[in-house]
Amino acid sequence: MIKADLVIKNARQVLTCRGEAPKLREQMMEIGLITQGWVASGRGKITYVGDEKGYRAKVTPEEGCQVIDASEAVVLPGLVDSHTHLVFGGSREGEFVQRLWGMSYQEIAQSGGGILSTVRATRAASYEELLRDARRRLDRMLRLGTTTCEAKSGYGLTVDDELKLLRISRELHQSHPADIVNTFLGAHTFPPEYISRKEEYVDLIISEFIPRVKEEGLAEFCDVFCEEGAFSVEQSRAILESAAQLGFKLKLHADQLTHSGGAELAAELGAISADHLDYISDRGVELLAEKGVAAVLLPGSNFFLRLKRYPPARRMIEAGVPVTLATDFNPGTAMNESMPLTIALACLEMGLFPEEAINAATINSAYAVELHKSVGSIEVGKKADFIICSIPNYLHLIYHWGINHVHTVVKDGKIVVREGKIVNQSSFP
Ligand SMILES: [Zn+2]
Repeated sequence: MIKADLVIKNARQVLTCRGEAPKLREQMMEIGLITQGWVASGRGKITYVGDEKGYRAKVTPEEGCQVIDASEAVVLPGLVDSHTHLVFGGSREGEFVQRLWGMSYQEIAQSGGGILSTVRATRAASYEELLRDARRRLDRMLRLGTTTCEAKSGYGLTVDDELKLLRISRELHQSHPADIVNTFLGAHTFPPEYISRKEEYVDLIISEFIPRVKEEGLAEFCDVFCEEGAFSVEQSRAILESAAQLGFKLKLHADQLTHSGGAELAAELGAISADHLDYISDRGVELLAEKGVAAVLLPGSNFFLRLKRYPPARRMIEAGVPVTLATDFNPGTAMNESMPLTIALACLEMGLFPEEAINAATINSAYAVELHKSVGSIEVGKKADFIICSIPNYLHLIYHWGINHVHTVVKDGKIVVREGKIVNQSSFP
C-alpha cells in the first residue's frame, strides 16, 4: 500500500502537466487533466495522483493525515517563476509617472533614474532591510501560487554587494517555504565607477566576482545582459565561458531591445535559457529549437513598458522551442510578482492558448531552471508542490483575470498558504 500524510480529495480538475520536459509544439496543449481527481503525498513527495477508485485501492492514509476537500476547486502544480530580480533596495514609482508624461528611458536615466538608481539604493540598504523586503515579495509570490523561483543578483555591482544579494536569496531559500534558485548577474549593467573603463569591469567579473561566487557556492547560474549599450556579444561570451569553466549553468538576457545576437550566443554556449527575446531573429529561433535552449518570455515587462511589440511566442512554439514564462519581477520594468497575471498576458498579448501558457509556467519553467525532474508537474516521486484554486475550471485562472484565485498552497507536502494567507510565518511583520 502507498502511505499518505496529506490527501487532496475530489478536485473538480487536477492539471498534472505530466509528461517529458520540456513540452514542445502540440505537447504544450497537453495538461494531463483528471476530473474528480485525488492527489496524495507522503514525506513531502507525491505518492498518488489519479481517480478515487485507484486511491481507495492503493493508498492508506497515515494517522493524522491531513485531508483537503477540493470539490469546489482546481489543483495545479506549484508555479515556477524562472526569471526574477527579487532582491533590491528602493523603488521607482516616480520613473513610472515620468514615463506616463512621455519621458524616454534615456531622459529618465539622465535625470538620475533607471537601473543605476536601484544600484545606489541597493548599495545603501542594509542586509536586514534587503532581506525583509525580499521576504515580503516572496510571501506575495507564494500567496499567488509560486512555489519555486529564480532570483538574480545584479544591483550591487561590487563584489561585496553582489555577494550580499546572493546571500540574502540563499538565506530566504533556507528559511522560507518557497525554493529559490540563485543566479549571479554581475553583468547586469556597468557600474558608474567603471562607465569609462568597461573592459576593466568585464575583467573584474571574470577574475574576481565569478571565482568568489563559486568559492562560496552562492549561485547555480550565471547570466549576462547582452544588449547594445550593455554587454556586447564578445564581452558576454568571455564572461559566460569563464563561468561555464567553473561549473556554472548559463542564462542570457538576449535580444530584448534590439537584435543583438543574444539568442545565437545562448545556443552556441549551450545555455539553459535565453530570456526576453523580443527581437529574436529567425535564425535565433531555429538555433534555440535545435539546442533545446528554453525561451523565457516575460510579457509583464512588455505590458508595463506599454510596448506594442512582444516576443514571437507562436513562431517559437511552432519551431519547437521550449517556451516558458516568468514575471521578470524587478523595480523598473515589472513590479509584479504574479505568475497568474503573466499567464493571462501570455494569452492576451502573445496568443498562447491557456494550456500552453500553463505548461509554460510550470513544467517548462522548471526546465528553464533545470528543476524539471523534481518540480513543475504533479507526478509520483516529485515534490508535493501544489496550488488549489477556488475556480470552477482551469480556464477561469485566465478568463477571470487579475484576481488571486489561489486558496491553498502546499509546498513539500505542507500547507503553507490557507485561505490566501501564509500559515505559521512568525517572521512576518
Ligand atoms: Zn531580467
